[in-house]
Amino acid sequence: MTDRSEGERAQFDADEERGVREAYARDGHAECPRCAVRMRERSIGGGSFGLGYARKREWLLCPSCHRSVLFDVKRGTRN
Ligand SMILES: [Zn+2]
Repeated sequence: MTDRSEGERAQFDADEERGVREAYARDGHAECPRCAVRMRERSIGGGSFGLGYARKREWLLCPSCHRSVLFDVKRGTRN
């Protein structure tokens, strides 16, 4: 299902998003591949212990083009 309207909510394409994830995993921060500005990091959730998981999420937002990448951070867990 890909019925989201283009232009209203800009997104990275898959390659760009992967690049952001890799850069953030490696360096702890990432730059927007389109604007070459540092993306803002924001932690989401993590306090939902009642749901039985303590998964941490990071949200990277470009302050220029407002594209964002949301992903789970696996920190300190090795499975
Ligand atoms: Zn940008």
